Amino acid sequence: MKKKALIEKYRLRNDEYDSILDQFIHSIAEMFDMPIAFLGVIEDNTQWFKAKFGIDITEIPLNDSLCKLVVDSNDTVYIEDTLNDERAIDKPTVTGPPHVRFYAGVPFKLQDTTVGSVCLVDTKPRVLSNNDIELLIKFSRHLAQCVELIYANLRTEDEHQLLNNSPAALIRWQARPTITTSYLSQNFSKLLRIDIPEDISQFQLENYIYSEDFDEFMFAMRNHHQGASFCECDFRIESKSHAPVWYKLVSRGIFDNNNLIAIQGLLFNNAEQKYLEQRILETNERMRLLLEASGLGTSDWDLQNDNMRVNNRMCDIVGMHPDSVDTSMMFWAQLVHPADKERLRDAIVDSLISPQTPLDIEYRVHSANRSYIWLETYGKVVTRDKNGRAVRFAMTHRDITEKKLSDLAVERQRRLLGFINHAQNLFVAQKDLQLACEQIFPELIDLAESEYGFIGKVQYENGAPLLHIYAISDVSWSEETKQQYELFKQGKLRFTNLNNLFGHVITSSSPVIANAPRNHLASKGTPKGHPVLHRFLGLPIKQSGETVGVIGLANKAEDYSQNDVTFLTPLTDTLANLFRAVEVEQARYEAEQRLEHLASTDSLTGLMNRRAYFNRIQSLTENDSNKHCVCIIDIDNFKKLNDTYGHPVGDQVLKEVARTLEHSVRNSDMVSRLGGEEFGLYLESGDVQQCSQLLDELMMNLTHVTVQTDKGVLDNITISIGASVVSRNMQSATTYFDQAMKEADDALYEAKRQGKNRYHWYQRMKEEKQANNDISSAVTH
Ligand code: GH3
Ligand code: MG
Ligand code: MG
Repeated sequence: MKKKALIEKYRLRNDEYDSILDQFIHSIAEMFDMPIAFLGVIEDNTQWFKAKFGIDITEIPLNDSLCKLVVDSNDTVYIEDTLNDERAIDKPTVTGPPHVRFYAGVPFKLQDTTVGSVCLVDTKPRVLSNNDIELLIKFSRHLAQCVELIYANLRTEDEHQLLNNSPAALIRWQARPTITTSYLSQNFSKLLRIDIPEDISQFQLENYIYSEDFDEFMFAMRNHHQGASFCECDFRIESKSHAPVWYKLVSRGIFDNNNLIAIQGLLFNNAEQKYLEQRILETNERMRLLLEASGLGTSDWDLQNDNMRVNNRMCDIVGMHPDSVDTSMMFWAQLVHPADKERLRDAIVDSLISPQTPLDIEYRVHSANRSYIWLETYGKVVTRDKNGRAVRFAMTHRDITEKKLSDLAVERQRRLLGFINHAQNLFVAQKDLQLACEQIFPELIDLAESEYGFIGKVQYENGAPLLHIYAISDVSWSEETKQQYELFKQGKLRFTNLNNLFGHVITSSSPVIANAPRNHLASKGTPKGHPVLHRFLGLPIKQSGETVGVIGLANKAEDYSQNDVTFLTPLTDTLANLFRAVEVEQARYEAEQRLEHLASTDSLTGLMNRRAYFNRIQSLTENDSNKHCVCIIDIDNFKKLNDTYGHPVGDQVLKEVARTLEHSVRNSDMVSRLGGEEFGLYLESGDVQQCSQLLDELMMNLTHVTVQTDKGVLDNITISIGASVVSRNMQSATTYFDQAMKEADDALYEAKRQGKNRYHWYQRMKEEKQANNDISSAVTH
């Protein structure tokens, strides 16, 4: 250490302990019988007198100093007579007062560094022996030790002073023969607010320790006995005058050859920290109770160490034992439903990056108890590093499965009712069941969370049931199945084989829930190439207890259950009503057809009657201005026939004639009964020659007609025909018809007049000629 620092350290500049040193120097002077002795200290350009005897001056310039010689040489300087020594002869202390003639100085060392000199001075020449000089060196050493001791003492006093004014108190126990208090700092009583007996060995700290904390203190003491160097314990001190106050004891065991000889302890008031600790504990406990009561799961994610700490409730929520959950984020991430993973990850990343975006999200996680549960999670970064990066992320989790499922159920119910309504409206508007079924089908598949399916209606063919398909997913996988789908598009797809899962719905008249279809008794497997059937739900569509249709659904991601059946019941009920409506509609249509038939048919011959005949001609010629042939056919001498053979035979003849007429004309031609024994004939052709040929054939055919009577066989039935070629131009249907009939009737009249059993063409020329006042006759064949 530098001289200056040493002087500073040992407080040589202070004069607080100068009197002790002065006494020491005084003793040295006396011992050597010297009038002057001193301790000179060299500093900067001065030598000053730290302790002195026999002189009054306090300092002299360094150049005037003889001590400088000692310090510079770090050795004894011995001058018997200054007047004979050139080092001293010029010095002012030699030339002037105190007129030094003898000088002996030895180095004064602190920590092995010479900082000054211990000197003996006389005003007359002197001689000292070597032993004397040795003795002086020893004294110098003692003086240095004295300075060091004083310094140490001062330091201890300072420390004590500091300690006494500090919130810490010292206690020391000696360990042998028994633990006894051997030292208490002055502030002990004041700090701990307890009275200390005069004899401190009678003081026992444990008497003041609050009973509940006693074990804590004893534990520390025992630890020291067993070799612990340092211990720490907290306890409360109580006394009659005040309530217990928290203290912390930091203690050190002092050992000698592994034997405890003493314990030194520092005690300080710990009330504030304890209070805070207690508050934190209470707050944490309150928070824990609150979280438990609220059923909230919590997790605390330490991102740097990827450590996820969750509370017991969180383990409960996912149905796991706290010991079996892993602490990594990966573990929790793999529990998240695949469909929600990406959404959750994005939301977490958002809130990790942006402090303004706390996590607030609903998603599904896998639970050991149930397949999936819905969680509502709030999360927030609670600690960030100095760069703003998230370090800790805290989350709370609420199991909202019940609410979510009921919300979803309400939403699904709403959708279901919506599309049922839609189906009904479609059907009412279009009267087309297949269209209605096809329209609602994609939504049904979606709502039922299924992959594919069908809607079919039970029909009977020759007493055997079959399934007419009204809607079906296109799962075609081959040419043949593509054709089947085409068939469906045309409304012609039917499943006739009912010896299978969906057939079982009809035969058992109850829902078929097959979550492992292969194992179902009714299963006959699927055709080769058919998409794999993982799960099947077959719902009967029932009308008053009878199964009239089936909804088949396949491959829900989860198991089908009775819930699905219940959920879809409004749909099956509606379809049952629609099926009934279809049947009612069909029946009504058929009745109408029957009535229409009756109203337009002649009951005796089965031919269309006059009204129907008129209607057909009207519609056939609506936008047609081509020529067509209109004929009236009248049985000859029918009155006589009636009279001869009776009315029933007359009827029989009418039927036979009607049948022959029907067989004799082409499909595009029409035959009707106009009334009595008159028939109408409409030939599509307007060509007289062609029609004449047909009429010839017709009359020829009639010659073969025979009717059995009780008066023998009747085989001479003949007819007369009046024919006219007409075209409808701008006239109304009635005008056109009336005109055509009138012309045919005129021609018929002519045929009768000419002797019957013939046809006669109405001559248009006649009218034209009439217009020219030219009379002509009808043409008869
Ligand atoms: P013409 O050769 O000139 O046609 O003489 P016609 O006897 O056939 O003609 P007329 O008009 O005098 O007689 C028609 C008869 O047809 C009168 C009527 O009794 C009979 N008749 C009308 N409707 C039916 C019927 O539904 N069944 C039977 N059996 N007779 C009928
Ligand atoms: Mg007639
Ligand atoms: Mg007749």
